[in-house]
Order: sequence, then structure tokens, then C-alpha cells
Amino acid sequence: MARYLDSQCKLCRREGMKLSLKGPRCNTEKCAFIKHPVPPGANASYRPAKQSYYAMQLREKQKTKRIYGMLEKQFRRFFSIANESKGVTGQRLLQLLELRLDNVIYRSLCALSRNQARQYVRHGKIFVNGKRVNIPSYIVSIGEEITVTGNDTFKKAIQENIEINSKDRSVSTWLELNKDLLSVKPVRLPKREDIGVAINEQFIVELYSK
Ligand code: SF4
Repeated sequence: MARYLDSQCKLCRREGMKLSLKGPRCNTEKCAFIKHPVPPGANASYRPAKQSYYAMQLREKQKTKRIYGMLEKQFRRFFSIANESKGVTGQRLLQLLELRLDNVIYRSLCALSRNQARQYVRHGKIFVNGKRVNIPSYIVSIGEEITVTGNDTFKKAIQENIEINSKDRSVSTWLELNKDLLSVKPVRLPKREDIGVAINEQFIVELYSK
């Protein structure tokens, strides 16, 4: 499967904002965007050019893809599902992105970043309703029980992740985390205001509807 292997920090610099792709490190002075807030390749005297409407739409789509760690083909597939389902397409798209299994692990504080959550899923550490699921893009349904499994060392690492994450963020309100059992359950669908990421989903809908 194709993967993005270059620097994560370059993506933040390209999008002109912190995308928090590296977990707690993003909240320290080590953050590359704080140190060098210009696009990769640009020097310190860089002045952003005025963007066309198309460029704004494109950047919004790229930014969203990068936040959720997706490549174009998969992101477009998610858009098609959103487009075919009932409701407002943009909001439905964000809802589907939030319901990705790797994102649920991240939102429940069990992983420091979405990248780490994806790795846990790929390495077979995540069970859904008692069955191992190693597909990070698996869309979780309300009521499904997601459990993090592994040996004692791994479970201890997850407990530590929860502790570290609790300093900067809390479990999303649409999820219920059982810290002792390391299990999480979506209790309702995420609403637009739960997502808390600065995304203009309308731009993405317009871009893909051309
Ligand atoms: Fe982006 Fe800063 Fe995190 Fe790097 S450390 S991924 S630049 S927010």
C-alpha cells in the first residue's frame, strides 16, 4: 500500500498551519512550524502570493487529507461514500473521516498521533467486537466495541499514552473510553462541532464537484 514517507513537518509548513501530526512534540518549542513557518524550500523573507479560489479549494482538500493521513485515491473514495449518503456531503465526509478506526484510537487518547494509531491497527493490536481488524480506514459504527490488545508492556505503553495525551486533550465526547479494559465505544455519531479541526469542507465539496 502506498504511503507518505517524507517529513511530516514539511506538510504543516506547506499548509501554513500546525496539523499536529507528531503528537505531544507538536506542542513544544521543537515544532518545526514554529521555528520556520514558511513553505518547504522558501526562505525566511517569503511572502505568500494571493491565492486563486481554485488554489484555496485545493489547499483545503490537501490539508484535510494530510490531517487524516490519507492519499488521494482513498480520500476520493471517502468523498464518494459521503456524496452518495444522506445529509450534507461536507459534514458527512468529516463524519466518515472521524469514524475511521485509526482516528477513533487517536481520539480516545490511546495513541499519541494518528500515525501511531494507524501503526497499532496495521500491527493487529486492535479488535472490533472481538475480531482483529487491521484496516486503518475501517469505518466504525455506533456501539461497536474497539479493544486495544497486546502483552503487558504494550498495554502499559497505551496507559502511558492516555496519561500523556490527557495533558493536552480529552476523549472526544462521542466516544466512551474504559481505561481499565482499554476499550472504546462510539456512543453517537460525531457532530460538526465535535471535530474541532479548522476545515472548510465546502471547499472540498466544490472542488470534487467540478
Ligand atoms: Fe507540524 Fe510542528 Fe507537529 Fe511538526 S512538530 S508535525 S511542524 S505541528
